[in-house]
Amino acid sequence: MNPLFWYPPAETRISTKSFIDALLGKNHDFEKDLCSYLGVESCILGNSGRALMTLLLQALKKADTRNRNEVLIPAYTCYSVAASVVKAGLKISVYDLDPQTLRPDADSLKNAAGNKTLAIVYQHLFGIPQPREDFDDISIEHSIPLIEDAAQGLGGFLNSKPLGALGDFSIFSFGRGKPLPIGTGGALTGKKDALDTIPTPSSAKGRGQLITSVAVQVLSHSLLYGIMEKLPLGLGKTVFDPGFALSGMPAAMKMLAKSSLAGLESFNAHRRAIAGVYQSGLDSTHTVKEQAGAGPVYTRFPFFAGPKRISPQLYRLGVRRMYPEAIAAEPVIKTYLANPGQPAPGAKQIARNLITLPTHSRITLPIARKILAVLQEEYHC
Ligand SMILES: *Cc1c(COP(=O)(O)O)cnc(C)c1O
Repeated sequence: MNPLFWYPPAETRISTKSFIDALLGKNHDFEKDLCSYLGVESCILGNSGRALMTLLLQALKKADTRNRNEVLIPAYTCYSVAASVVKAGLKISVYDLDPQTLRPDADSLKNAAGNKTLAIVYQHLFGIPQPREDFDDISIEHSIPLIEDAAQGLGGFLNSKPLGALGDFSIFSFGRGKPLPIGTGGALTGKKDALDTIPTPSSAKGRGQLITSVAVQVLSHSLLYGIMEKLPLGLGKTVFDPGFALSGMPAAMKMLAKSSLAGLESFNAHRRAIAGVYQSGLDSTHTVKEQAGAGPVYTRFPFFAGPKRISPQLYRLGVRRMYPEAIAAEPVIKTYLANPGQPAPGAKQIARNLITLPTHSRITLPIARKILAVLQEEYHC
């Protein structure tokens, strides 16, 4: 490997054609394209997935007549899910995950759900499809809406159904490292009458964001990324911050998304091919087993490596930990928990053991084989 090369863990991806379309474009009805792609009724766009999650939770709270104020989320997930709950003025409750399959722990879910639960969030982490059936009993018993967090799942499917069409509502993100990684934006889908109660947030033109996304892409080149990561841009940092804006998706980003959607299938085919290289060489006790009928995305490839520090060589190849702690172990998030004593040993184990291997377009098959060889050598797996 060229000693000057650094591979990022994630990327933004904007084709020249999409960039030009976004600069010139007048047509930005991305909502319609996304709805027909997913086969869903209605869609709202926002400047991020977390903003839409907050707007949705606020609307659910407003319509609630039973004084419910807790949102049940996975005990290991993106910190911005917790931030959305807090921003909506609600309490966080967590259910544990099975550390091998990433599926919910049935007992933990049952214990955590109750008559205070306003909504349940369920996720396809890394775009690995998870069945909604795990939640059906509880969601029906207490009539709790199920919010599908498909931020990492766009383009994946389960039993021929697209991820993002399984929940009562679904959230998507178009940030760096997501399936359609244009850099900014998010979507919320669901039934039209429910979404009609949510005010469409106003949006800016967004030329600045468009330029930023392109700059991030250029600087993610393997000859430049080593420098970029040393700049104080906060790239790849996981921080809990409910101080985000609740605004719409900028017009330029809508055009970019509309033009980029056609490339999604090929981005995901590449990710799956890279994941296939990793899968073929790693012991299955260290990887996540896929459900029957699953078409995963693999925004990154999860590998249960153990607590050992990631070596400099793997770090330069884009290997990183994911979220540093389980939700209930993060000191600030802790203060917003409905039941701080709730145990989540599975999530703790995931936080301690999980590392992720990059799958994005800069990771070619030879680079993936290189990453695999280094892993096999360092972890004897
Ligand atoms: C990225 C992400 C979000 C939030 O999306 P943003 O657009 O970054 O706000 C939510 N959940 C998961 C699982 C994510 O990966």
